[in-house]
Amino acid sequence: MFANRVLDAGGIRCHVLIDGWRAVSPRFVFKGYDEAVHGPSVAPGLEADGSLSGRFAALLIEGADGLVLVDAGIGPFAGEMEAGRLAGELDGLGISRTDIRTVVVTHGHADHVGGLVTNDGVPVFEEARHLVHPAELAFWRSGVAGDLPGDAGEPARVAFGALRAGGLLDATTSGAATREVDVIEAPGHTPGHLAVLVNDALLWAGDAIVHPVNVAHPEWISAADMDAANVQTRVALLARAADDGLVVAGSHLPVQGRIRRHGAGFVFDELPPGR
Ligand SMILES: [Zn+2]
Repeated sequence: MFANRVLDAGGIRCHVLIDGWRAVSPRFVFKGYDEAVHGPSVAPGLEADGSLSGRFAALLIEGADGLVLVDAGIGPFAGEMEAGRLAGELDGLGISRTDIRTVVVTHGHADHVGGLVTNDGVPVFEEARHLVHPAELAFWRSGVAGDLPGDAGEPARVAFGALRAGGLLDATTSGAATREVDVIEAPGHTPGHLAVLVNDALLWAGDAIVHPVNVAHPEWISAADMDAANVQTRVALLARAADDGLVVAGSHLPVQGRIRRHGAGFVFDELPPGR
């Protein structure tokens, strides 16, 4: 499990950077979890303690226009969580922070934006333009985000504020981020969630697809999805992946694979390790 750390996007090398691990209740990954409905699909993947294992991951793309990072892990906001390893992952690859030219931020949850800033709230990737959907920026500045329990809006507020002050923020809805990297509007998990397409070969779904069962059942949203629009987003991403032969991977999805149409729905064909 959690193998395939290097992904090939049609000749563009990508690295899945592991920021940490998590074990969560299936009630979190599948909102309104019902043993009778979800159990037959989900139960075979449960650990002995009844939890689902997943990862926190970011993607590093070795693009011709320079290195592109998709999300930055939880950084200084890890607290008691087993996460915040992204800096060590970059060090392990011999990559300095200033080598990163572009950062795509899929959305404003802590495990994606926390690592954009240091303990002191200063941008980590000071040479990079940071692409964020304008609806995402607006949401995390809103009173709704400010009222989230546990001050869940703090990491986004700190990170986006620091990037804005540093002139590093670039509001982007969709289109080419670099020659090989496109951002795709994928709302629902959050209002301005972005997915990323690398070299027309690899689809990084961010948090739009978090579990392999989401492929057969895109209608089963998670407790972390802000909006049921994520169902339409998933179907659109899966259709594109199936029709264009894309490899699909994502932040919390523990495996990657290709999507095949099956009747009115989709099937997930996991890729074997090393592919
Ligand atoms: Zn996430």
